[in-house]
Amino acid sequence: MRIIYADNNATTQVAPEVYEAMGPYFTEQYFNPSSMYDAAHTTANALNNARKEIAGHFALEEPKQILFTSCATESNNTAIMGTARANPNRRHIITSSVEHPAVLEVCKDMERNGYKVTFLPVDNDGNLNIDEFIRALSPDTLLVTILHANNESGVIFPIEQLSRLTKETDPSIVFHTDATQSVGKMPIDLRGEFRHVDLLSFSGHKLHAPKGIGALFVRRGTPCRPYMLGGHQEGGRRAGTENVPYIVGLAKALSLSIENMEEDESRIQKLRDRLEAALVEKIPEVQVNGKGAPRLPNTLNIACHYIEGEGILYQLSTHGICASSGSACTSGSLEPSHVLRAMNVPFTAVHGSVRFSLSRYNTEEDVDRIIEVFPEIVANLRKLSPYWDNEKNTPRPDAESMLQQTH
Ligand code: PLP
Repeated sequence: MRIIYADNNATTQVAPEVYEAMGPYFTEQYFNPSSMYDAAHTTANALNNARKEIAGHFALEEPKQILFTSCATESNNTAIMGTARANPNRRHIITSSVEHPAVLEVCKDMERNGYKVTFLPVDNDGNLNIDEFIRALSPDTLLVTILHANNESGVIFPIEQLSRLTKETDPSIVFHTDATQSVGKMPIDLRGEFRHVDLLSFSGHKLHAPKGIGALFVRRGTPCRPYMLGGHQEGGRRAGTENVPYIVGLAKALSLSIENMEEDESRIQKLRDRLEAALVEKIPEVQVNGKGAPRLPNTLNIACHYIEGEGILYQLSTHGICASSGSACTSGSLEPSHVLRAMNVPFTAVHGSVRFSLSRYNTEEDVDRIIEVFPEIVANLRKLSPYWDNEKNTPRPDAESMLQQTH
């Protein structure tokens, strides 16, 4: 069965060009880049060149501002904990209620350790309220950590505006953004519109590099203590021997994404828009989560009321279609998505939300197949739903109140 992969916000396939570029650093130039002998110099040069190449894509003149990590989770942990350890006199952090757990859980842990954390709410479209953000900034604020593009809804936050407002209020507040879902999909200029951003996280496996490589941009002069202690790799700011093959892969993947961004992203957006329009037309009682906000061009989060996302995913999977739901199955219980709940998506829809996320490897045929299969799956599941009137093909009049009781 042909696999139709539409779960690219979870991870992406490694681009063949990336795989090829990494090869020699496993088999021939496998040396430790910190070693003194001549043979290792080629490896060290590859590391330096990759750093330069990546820095260039963010318009940075100083490549040393890019630190290599093992993943975006490590980059986020370093940004938050490193900032806190470097500024022990301030105890307030601002974040949003729709962050990835790699930020959210760290912030909750900071709260348990005596920090005050403001988790800013979002409106029904997933947008932040700017006035509320400004009101949250206080003389005790140490750090703002707000994601750029949301992995579930695709909603994009106005990082340029938020970072500028932060610095206008108090230049010593550190501004971090988790740009894991936007790097490679949107242009990011760290000397231009993102010049007020101090720290920025991203990860290789969301942009066709392998899993297990990430990076953190640390603007020169930003107070941020190392999180990983040990050897003095990465200028003493992140201990651990650098993963040169993966770093070479990350640089190649970012270059490919950025060189082809305009063409790829507009093609991907056309595919996403066609998919969205067809599903909305063919399926009654659906809503597109985040529709009213600026969104990533590759992401469609669609809620089908009165059925379970897990059921839809299972059925999709029998057709070889890979997507995600709005719920995370944790320790046997179905937890509705914190992102969709923060967006006030009704319970009838949170559980029936499915995320399709496309990449440059998706084709028109992939979208045709999803359009062919998905409405039928929804119709069949609704036939089994106690909240759906099969005679009239509409929700039962008491469905809303029944669901209120259920939760
Ligand atoms: N932040 C965001 C917005 C993400 O989407 C993800 C992965 O889904 C992460 C952080 C964590 O990335 P990694 O798997 O590289 O740790």
